[in-house]
Amino acid sequence: PTADIGLAWKHGFAALGPDFFTELRPTPLPAPHWVGTSTAVAQLIGLDADWLQRDEALQAFTGNTLLAGSRPLASVYSGHQFGVWAGQLGDGRAILLGETAAGLEIQLKGAGRTPYSRMGDGRAVLRSSIREFLCSEAMHGLGIPTSRALCITGSPAPVRREEVETASVVTRVAPSFVRFGHFEHFAANDLQAQLKTLADYVIARYYPECRDTRDFGGNAYAALLQDVSERTAHLMAQWQAVGFCHGVMNTDNMSILGLTIDYGPFQFLDAFVPGHVCNHSDNQGRYAYNRQPNVAYWNLFCLAQALLPLIGDQELAKGALESYKTVFPEAFMARMRSKLGLAQAREKDAELIDGILVLLAQNAVDHTIFWRRLSHAVQQDDFEPVRDLFADRTAFNNWLLSYSELLALDNKALAANLMLKTNPKFVLRNHLGEQAIRAAKLGDFSELQTLQRLLEHPFDEHPGHDAYAAFPPDWASSIEISCSS
Ligand code: AMP
Ligand code: MG
Ligand code: MG
Repeated sequence: PTADIGLAWKHGFAALGPDFFTELRPTPLPAPHWVGTSTAVAQLIGLDADWLQRDEALQAFTGNTLLAGSRPLASVYSGHQFGVWAGQLGDGRAILLGETAAGLEIQLKGAGRTPYSRMGDGRAVLRSSIREFLCSEAMHGLGIPTSRALCITGSPAPVRREEVETASVVTRVAPSFVRFGHFEHFAANDLQAQLKTLADYVIARYYPECRDTRDFGGNAYAALLQDVSERTAHLMAQWQAVGFCHGVMNTDNMSILGLTIDYGPFQFLDAFVPGHVCNHSDNQGRYAYNRQPNVAYWNLFCLAQALLPLIGDQELAKGALESYKTVFPEAFMARMRSKLGLAQAREKDAELIDGILVLLAQNAVDHTIFWRRLSHAVQQDDFEPVRDLFADRTAFNNWLLSYSELLALDNKALAANLMLKTNPKFVLRNHLGEQAIRAAKLGDFSELQTLQRLLEHPFDEHPGHDAYAAFPPDWASSIEISCSS
């Protein structure tokens, strides 16, 4: 059976041909129900929000019926996992329905086994789907590039993880789900023609300016590597500034568009602990918060190696890659200046920024609360609530002296304004997600909806919801989240 929602399709990725994917249908799930929907994402893809309430839609986004005009497939990619070449991976549980005429790909995650499932069951559990759904929309609300999430459906079908949970499908949306690992796949298998086809497609569709570049002697592939490096640098600057830990920065989880993708054991920092590792199965701490910018560079190096046959010149590839090393620190500093409300770059910035990061770490201060309180402190010219966050008040006072000197050079009202738009009141802390998940498991989705509403506009005050912006409860630190979800 098919459901017609009047979506027009163009299927750019599918046009690359069978070397890039396997066409297959999602595997149905019994007795589906709605868990969550995003009106904003429905609008984005031109879907009538009312239609999203209908049983037709429920069945289609669970993978039980096909959307008219869709062309479901699972793509093949490879990648480095935890620093080690992992060989072929691929969409093991995500099925691409296709690309809409407006240029957005729609994917069902958890829609059943594919030829790339390896030992996996092709499913996603309710818990992880809720985390992905909420975080996608939270990141978008924060202004951080990300895949989006249209909806979640649930089913009573049991799924075995550490314990038995239930199945769920999250519908994801992005201009493209192509990963560094797609390029690595064709390079590693010496499939030069396919490698070129893929690169030409990505350039034509997403980086057309690379075709006419004058940089790198007109080498479009080097220009692509440089643009991807720069987008990734900007993404890392945003992650670091907001305190986001991805948790599984394998090369197959790195978007060629510089989007945040594949939400698994991610976490927003509670206390500012630079070495924090959010992924319970990351024993080496490879993906610790403070290592993310270096890991991104390492991953870009893998992409560079994969593109090298097309670029054809080591020095050009190196040059393109090195842009990361200038763009990341610049982008990071710019973000941090905004967090401090400083409108322009000044000589003392770096010292001030390093200084506060050291103090935040030494005093294990709550990251989100610190920045929000600082924003209000500047607005109201009362720093007491911020000072209260530090055990070492003298050290904070000293820092505040230098900060006040810089602030005095700018307009305070403008500074506070900038800060309140840069430092969110609400982030998806682990325990908040967990509360929504616990309620959802009992069939109550109101907590998820409340959280979604707050996270869609994380810079607004949302009176009456301060509990969602409070310190984490003691039990928050005992939440363990690992890769398998
Ligand atoms: P991840 O690091 O979680 O993004 O996943 C790494 C690889 O494992 C990807 O190829 C996924 O498609 C695959 N994978 C993860 N979970 C499952 C599952 N439950 N069933 C099949 N494949 C999976
Ligand atoms: Mg350029
Ligand atoms: Mg993945």
